[in-house]
Amino acid sequence: MTSPYFTYQDGVLHAEGVALPDLAATVGTPFYCYSTAALEANYRAFADAFEGSDTGICYALKANSNLAVIRTLAKLGAGADVVSEGEMRRALAGGIPADRIVFSGVGKTREEMRSALESGIFQLNVESIPELEALSQVASSLDRTAAIAIRVNPDVDAKTHAKIATGKKENKFGIDIDHARQTYARAAALPGIKPVAVAVHIGSQLTSLEPFRAAFERVVELVHALREDGHDIQRLDLGGGLGILYRDEDVPSLDAYAGMVRSITGNLGCHVTLEPGRALVGNAGILVSKVIYRKTGVHREFLIVDAAMNDLIRPSLYDAWHTILPVAEEDQDAPRTRIDVVGPVCESGDTFAVQRVLPHLDQDDLVAFLSAGAYGAVMSSTYNTRPLVPEVLVSGSDHAVVRRRPTVEEMLAAEQVPAWLEK
Ligand SMILES: *Cc1c(COP(=O)(O)O)cnc(C)c1O
Repeated sequence: MTSPYFTYQDGVLHAEGVALPDLAATVGTPFYCYSTAALEANYRAFADAFEGSDTGICYALKANSNLAVIRTLAKLGAGADVVSEGEMRRALAGGIPADRIVFSGVGKTREEMRSALESGIFQLNVESIPELEALSQVASSLDRTAAIAIRVNPDVDAKTHAKIATGKKENKFGIDIDHARQTYARAAALPGIKPVAVAVHIGSQLTSLEPFRAAFERVVELVHALREDGHDIQRLDLGGGLGILYRDEDVPSLDAYAGMVRSITGNLGCHVTLEPGRALVGNAGILVSKVIYRKTGVHREFLIVDAAMNDLIRPSLYDAWHTILPVAEEDQDAPRTRIDVVGPVCESGDTFAVQRVLPHLDQDDLVAFLSAGAYGAVMSSTYNTRPLVPEVLVSGSDHAVVRRRPTVEEMLAAEQVPAWLEK
């Protein structure tokens, strides 16, 4: 897969107008690199597809919550979908107004509810009866009314990786759609709660419209039933989940997706919230890494790179494919061989690619993992005491380090040896 924002120029891979070897020399490897133009193009394409409909685009921060990324999208008018108080504070710090923030998540604490209500956010999406009761108590104690959606679980198979499917009965998410009417009745009777919306989100990296269609049709049926029951349902929250191209997936176009949403929800007169995460940022970022060694094993060869599963966990966690490009452009007819691309972490799962066909790469060569803008840096850890890697935002020929690499001293400074061990 190729992107117009990450291209070879004079034989060297660039992010927009910035040569990646120059960035590598400045910030060191590995590092994440995001393209402003790609973020803007992705947001505009999404917004354009829904132009003319009463929709709000609430970027799902968990895909990439770097403040500079949030700010880039906020300037284009994005709202936010957040799943923790931390993310809510990031959204606000990134310039997203509270009244464009939706708070999702299956385990909001009372402190998070309080903070969300005090900030005056747009909507809280409730996922269980105990949560509903807690929210009622918190809202009442603040003398506020919480505008809520109930997230329903429509029991639809999203046909994606099991770890990112969220809309089946056996998943922890939402309230079973068959129990939704009782739950709305319960909600309407509780002080401090005003049910105004129905929410659904069936999973991530969906590459077919059919599961969306099935889920949204069930939601529309429910809205009619709820209105009959006397609830004033004015909004739908249709979640995110639209897939992107990592390899050779047959991804639905934005127009097809928007057309489907319109055709199913068009007659309800509802404001529609959409929560794209991956679709806005996935292909706007790459992870750049350096080859440490090329190692010849008994049965196969290994390319050991300086990025690892702690930096980009998607291959280990979701068996995800990331296209790997050499930063120095190879001849089209240069010989290619199969090789395993692995990181230095002490886990066999620290493998980016198995028997990948690549041109010859050796010590000190740079490689880029494409489509790493979503669920990349945000999921990183410091396993093996590897400092979090820097994130760089490029715009034209400019670049800025938007998260720096912490030092090991900073990492150790948060830890303390108890007095009894100090003797
Ligand atoms: C994760 C999530 C999203 C975003 O999903 P993408 O697949 O990144 O678009 C949207 N809404 C909710 C409730 C989520 O949990």
